[in-house]
Amino acid sequence: MSFDLHTHSTVSDGTEPPAHVVAEAARVGLAGIALTDHDSSAGWDEARAAAQQHGLVFIPGMEISSKTDTASVHMLSYLHDPLDPAMLEINAATRGGRVERAKRICELLAEDFPITWELVMEQVSEDASIGRPHLADALVAAGVVESRTEAFQRHLYKGSRYYVGQDNPHPAEVVERVRAAGGVPVIAHAMAGARGNTLSLTELEELVEAGMLGVEVHHRDNPPEGQQLLLDLARRRDLIITGSSDYHGITGKPNRLGENSTEPEQVVRILQIGTGATASGPLPT
Ligand code: AMP
Ligand code: ZN
Ligand code: FE
Ligand code: FE
Repeated sequence: MSFDLHTHSTVSDGTEPPAHVVAEAARVGLAGIALTDHDSSAGWDEARAAAQQHGLVFIPGMEISSKTDTASVHMLSYLHDPLDPAMLEINAATRGGRVERAKRICELLAEDFPITWELVMEQVSEDASIGRPHLADALVAAGVVESRTEAFQRHLYKGSRYYVGQDNPHPAEVVERVRAAGGVPVIAHAMAGARGNTLSLTELEELVEAGMLGVEVHHRDNPPEGQQLLLDLARRRDLIITGSSDYHGITGKPNRLGENSTEPEQVVRILQIGTGATASGPLPT
């Protein structure tokens, strides 16, 4: 029984609708998935209905953008109340900030490439959380690059002259909001140094003090030594250990559903703690 607890759909920057992601999960033989779109829970209903059709477990989730003075941090949340006012407010502010930031990146790109905001918007599903992958899609549509991967390697990486950051809440605040909304906060790809600065072990311990309950250990962007550090931390602080693909669709990213997965015992811990929303399907016990 394997569970993939970190996936994206067209509700954010994945290339496939929620039901399609779930169908793909069934095809590759997963027991269940969490849909964790960036800063949005808009895909939950569609994913849940598809999971029911396929006999899969569905765990509602989200990947919440946060940042410290030095690092951009992605906090996964499972089973929080999607109508919690404080969470809705953070999500709306972050999605709004994403639009402003994407416009600025678009302006910078437009200085050198045949990119317009209209072309960018053509790449974004209605009401989706916009992100750099959509700007990558616009670069592909304009014939500047051949894939999202090439767009990131050449133009959209952090530190590029086209890169613009975003002010988001501190991860400790996000952790507190998630817990207050009955959710289970698990830090995503915490050792993914190739994406930019990561948190120190001391900062990770501070997030545990703030109420963070788990670490995503098995993720392709965490190098082996980083995974070991996270495992040691998890054992020391009795944290939930997860693994996942961070799927963004077949054409979105090379990451394949189920390439990393989470043990049923760890899923059970999440199900026992999360009280703001319900998981569905043949739940592990
Ligand atoms: P943003 O949220 O706008 O900062 O964009 C970050 C998103 O871009 C993440 O969800 C990543 O999965 C995606 N991303 C980062 N690097 C790459 C890459 N090399 N190829 C495709 N997608 C990427
Ligand atoms: Zn993404
Ligand atoms: Fe992420
Ligand atoms: Fe992700």
